[in-house]
Formats: sequence, C-alpha cells, structure tokens
Amino acid sequence: MSKAERVFNFSAGPSMLPLEVMELAAEQLTNYNGCGMSVMEMSHRSKEFEAIITTAESNLREIMNIPDNYKVLFLQGGATLQFSMVPINLLRNSKKADYILTGSWAKKAAAEAKKFGQVNIIASSEERNFTYIPEVKKEDFTPDADYVHITFNNTIYGTKFRYIPDTGDIPLVSDFSSCILSEELDVSKFGLIYAGAQKNVGPAGLTIVIIREDLIGHAPANTPVYLDYKTHANNDSLYNTPPTFGIYMAGEVFKHIKKLGGVSALEKMNKEKAMKLYDYIDGSSLFRCPVEAKDRSMMNVVFVTGNEAFDKKFISESKAAGLHNLGGHRSIGGMRASIYNAMPMAGVDALIDFMKKFEAENL
Ligand SMILES: *Cc1c(COP(=O)(O)O)cnc(C)c1O
Repeated sequence: MSKAERVFNFSAGPSMLPLEVMELAAEQLTNYNGCGMSVMEMSHRSKEFEAIITTAESNLREIMNIPDNYKVLFLQGGATLQFSMVPINLLRNSKKADYILTGSWAKKAAAEAKKFGQVNIIASSEERNFTYIPEVKKEDFTPDADYVHITFNNTIYGTKFRYIPDTGDIPLVSDFSSCILSEELDVSKFGLIYAGAQKNVGPAGLTIVIIREDLIGHAPANTPVYLDYKTHANNDSLYNTPPTFGIYMAGEVFKHIKKLGGVSALEKMNKEKAMKLYDYIDGSSLFRCPVEAKDRSMMNVVFVTGNEAFDKKFISESKAAGLHNLGGHRSIGGMRASIYNAMPMAGVDALIDFMKKFEAENL
C-alpha cells in the first residue's frame, strides 16, 4: 500500500503515529543504523540499545521538562497494570487513597486499589453519565490519604481536567494515557504520572511512568519484583527485557516532537483541531456533543445524532469515505473522533466536510 492510500484513523487506541516516524522505522527495520540487525533482534544490553533508551529518556525529560528528582520508567503491562502498581507501592502509611471518578478507567483504577487499602471516592460525575469533571478543593481530600488519583483525560467520555487539583502535600497521581504530550504540563504538581504508549507515544506494549523519587521504595516486602517501582528505578528500566521496539519507536516520536517545536507547538495544533471540530458540532442541526463545554477533551471528541440508526449509518458511511474508527466506545455508543497528536488538521477538515455532507443528506 502506498502512502497516499493511508486512511484517517480516528481510533481511540492504538491510534495514528506520525507518518515520518513510521517511514523511518520501515527504513531501519531490518538494519538499524548499519549495525546489521533490527532493533527487534538486538540485545537490550547492547551499546546500540543503551543509546536508544538513554536518548529516549533524555528527550522525554527535555520535552516534558521533567524535574531531576523524578525517575522515568519504561515498563510493560499498560495503564491497567498501573491501576495495581500505584496502590501496591503508594499505600505506604494510612493505606487510604482518594479517587475522583470521571469515567470507566477511573472506576477500574479505584476498584483495583480497593484490593490493597481503603478507597475514598471523594467526587464523581457518574450521576450525569461522566459528561463533566467535578470541581474539587483542598478541603475535600482525606487529610491522611497516601495519594489522590485522577484520570486527566477520559478517553471514553471525552472529558478532561482543565485544572490540576491542589492536593497540598498529598501526592497527586494521574493516568495520562490519552493525553500525555498533548499540552504543556507542570510535572512537579504530580507525585506520579503514568500512560500507556498506544495513544500518543508509540506502539502498544510500552508504559511510561514518571515518579517522584521519594515515592519509590515503599512497597511491601512480598511485592512481586516486577511490580515494585524500585526494581525498575534501580536498574534504569533494564531489570528484565523491556519492550525494546516500543522504546525505540517512542524515542523517535520524542525526536519528532522536538523537531515540530516541542509540546507547546503540539498544544497549539491540538487546540486548533479540537476547536474547529467542536465549533462545527455546536453549530450543527444534526450532531451534538453531550460533554459540558468547559470540560471537553482535546483528544477524544464525542458526539451523537440522538438517533441510533443515524449513528450507525454515519459510522459505516464515514468508513467508506476513508474516515476510520469513528464509532463511540462499545459501552456508550454514538461517535468518537480521537484526534491525537499524529492526526493532521487535514483529517479533521475531511471529517468536518463529511459531517456537513451527511447532515445535508439526512436532515
Ligand atoms: C486506554 C486507556 C487505558 C487502558 O490502557 P491499557 O494500556 O490498555 O491498559 C487506561 N486509562 C486510560 C485513560 C486510557 O485511555
């Protein structure tokens, strides 16, 4: 298939990656930098791979402006394993944790934490089907909580925090799976950030954890070795074989982001893409966005017609027009356009053109 035949892929994840990075990977696939083998075939202890992983980490530190007292870990197991590793490692004193429920992923994270300690749901938007983000204040948190957990961008419901909750001295932990590197972020406001790579960073199989050093080393003695952050921090993510090809791809994505002008340049493009799409939807007579305007995600744009038959027709006709994976999550239906970093403005324009045509034909 030629480059011209690629579709606009609005999948929530795994999702589009920058074409430039994909083409470079294709070029280097069987022989990386003249070393005579693929990254997939090389030892994770080789000089070549050591350069790949250290460069990836230093570029991520640079583009996210990660303070020196934070470790960057390249792990496996997805965001889902972090739902367990976070409580195992961070329930270190009172064994209490505060969770804010803003969607299915937040609920799954809280359910996992309950296995290891006391979970307080201090706010939830479930009563309005997760169509907004609750406001929380410092007084709302359990004073002796070991940490507070939030899901910054809610992939399924199309919401995102537009503020960082002030938790005082309580470490704030956040799932950034579907918004990492999409906008500038003050990492120092968090104790721990985690993200599966497959939405904004690279192929599935790599999970990024950014953790403040004082939160490492508190896991109980019977913690499985892989599940202890200390294991990975003490071994520079090379305790066992890391997801080597995923780290290579992520590293190339980080270089690509630097070339584009860093995260601030991406943030500007992401805002333009999302605003254009929401503006069209808000002015449309057929489509509607159920999410409160102030809490809308820049990455996952959820919309409906209010008529299930139209939604189905839209999803199948848009696919035929080269706009793939516009169906909403199986749990809520409707439509969802995931417009991560790698989705070009041309993809958003093509979607809006198609929506206008569909609206004209079906109203
Ligand atoms: C996709 C996603 C997950 C699940 O990630 P896995 O890597 O499949 O475990 C968790 N949280 C959020 C916010 C997501 O978008």
